[in-house]
Amino acid sequence: MGTEAAASIDAESAQRFAAGVRGRVLQQGDPGYDEARLVRNGLIDRHPALIVQCAGTADVVDAVDFARERGMVVSIRGGAHNVAGNAVNDGGIVIDLSAMRAVHVDPERKTARVQGGATWADVDGETQLWGLAAPGGQVSSTGVAGLTLHGGLGSLHRKYGLALDSLRSVEIVTADGRVRTASESVNPELFWAVRGAGSNFGVVTSFEFVLHPVGPEIYQAAPIFSLDDAPAVLRKYRDFCASAPDEMGPQAMFWSVPAVDDFPAELHGVPILVVLVVYSGDPDDGERLLQPVLEWGTPILDLSGRAPYTLAQSSFDAFFPFGGYYYWKSLLVGEPSDDLLDAIIDVAADRPSPEAIVNFWQLGGAIDRVAPDATAFAQRDARYLLSLDTSWFDPDASERCIDWTRRTWAAMQQRFATDRPYLNFVGFGEEKEALVRASYGANYERLVAAKTTYDPGNLFRMNNNIAPQGG
Ligand SMILES: Cc1cc2nc3c(=O)[nH]c(=O)nc-3n(C[C@H](O)[C@H](O)[C@H](O)COP(=O)(O)OP(=O)(O)OC[C@H]3O[C@@H](n4cnc5c(N)ncnc54)[C@H](O)[C@@H]3O)c2cc1C
Repeated sequence: MGTEAAASIDAESAQRFAAGVRGRVLQQGDPGYDEARLVRNGLIDRHPALIVQCAGTADVVDAVDFARERGMVVSIRGGAHNVAGNAVNDGGIVIDLSAMRAVHVDPERKTARVQGGATWADVDGETQLWGLAAPGGQVSSTGVAGLTLHGGLGSLHRKYGLALDSLRSVEIVTADGRVRTASESVNPELFWAVRGAGSNFGVVTSFEFVLHPVGPEIYQAAPIFSLDDAPAVLRKYRDFCASAPDEMGPQAMFWSVPAVDDFPAELHGVPILVVLVVYSGDPDDGERLLQPVLEWGTPILDLSGRAPYTLAQSSFDAFFPFGGYYYWKSLLVGEPSDDLLDAIIDVAADRPSPEAIVNFWQLGGAIDRVAPDATAFAQRDARYLLSLDTSWFDPDASERCIDWTRRTWAAMQQRFATDRPYLNFVGFGEEKEALVRASYGANYERLVAAKTTYDPGNLFRMNNNIAPQGG
């Protein structure tokens, strides 16, 4: 996958720049360059001219100024999970925040200040010391930045909203190199735009989150059913979701039993339907309320039980290794009829690799209690996320897996009569403007105006891009 052509930088100015920043600056041939240019998705193989491993906000300002003055393509690297590889580019500069991962919790105010390169493991590790959490994702190595700036779904979204709904403020370096605070009271329009389209507006060097009481122990239901039970289980799942309390963030995941020691060898590779429901309130209540879920069919395995919240937040980590291949696409959908549930089961039966997951994730709750124009994230009334999380480890399967995901996504758009994507799962973002228009809906024009104010030259364009006026 190539990106835009390289801008030329002379050796002397690169050297002067490197001498002025506190972090490391890497160029091709430097020790560490080849590790630093890789991202989680093994499909991405790019060669930036410079990788700036920033030590702090001052380094970010220097890097933004250096790039803008030379017309360089800019990538911002947070947790590097983005499937399209937007954290890196060919021939430009990477503003790498992976050394900026500090998390400071204020247990009295129930807030956390989180640096722009932190992962959810960093956040959960510190906040759980106080029995507190910010709503994050489900794989602990995912970056706080990319996930939060474009939504943020995990197991707490129905109780506490998207990750971005718990933001109180950010510190952001905008395209002019200025360090700004954005909150409801300071630069409110920038704060509005950052919550949903953040990567378009600058480099967020720190996030201030409001924290909520969660854990340190939770109960989760995780019965695993055979595909024979899928029609009955999926209908019961939908009916259960209709009145599930907000403490639950249910998911119905079609997958295959991973070939690892934790699972009985005779089940390795068997296609399954996992119903995963984390209960974020009192674990005793969770155990009682989730008992019926175990009786929807005859589980071939049952992984339900109490667990430390941090364990629940990292239990999928091993299945999404660095260098695996990922091409995920998604649709935000309404209430499904029986026919649509059957369509999902047909899709699941046709998955192109054992590692691919078809995930039907309940939304609503607190997400939908925020007005669609209160933040840039507009799609708040969706009832479910249908996510085609196509992963694979065999490099020869890439074309087949990508092709299957594109075809299936197009077919599901027809079946569900919607084109609304969740911007954290958009494959390579190849639909470009159509994608962002479909996602931001009525908020799109306001975002264009904010982009024109804060980044008129479209310096930050390695993302699901909102082009400024005239840009
Ligand atoms: C294995 C895996 C599991 C996932 N699980 C979930 C999940 O449970 N819930 C969910 O909602 N999503 C999930 N995602 C999707 C994830 O939210 C997106 O891939 C997101 O882009 C990752 O953010 P990142 O910081 O790790 O990625 P990066 O690739 O570093 O960045 C993603 C985007 O954000 C920009 N960016 C990064 N840091 C900053 C910053 N500090 N300031 C401004 N812009 C920045 C980048 O330029 C890029 O455009 C998952 C993805 C993977 C691969």
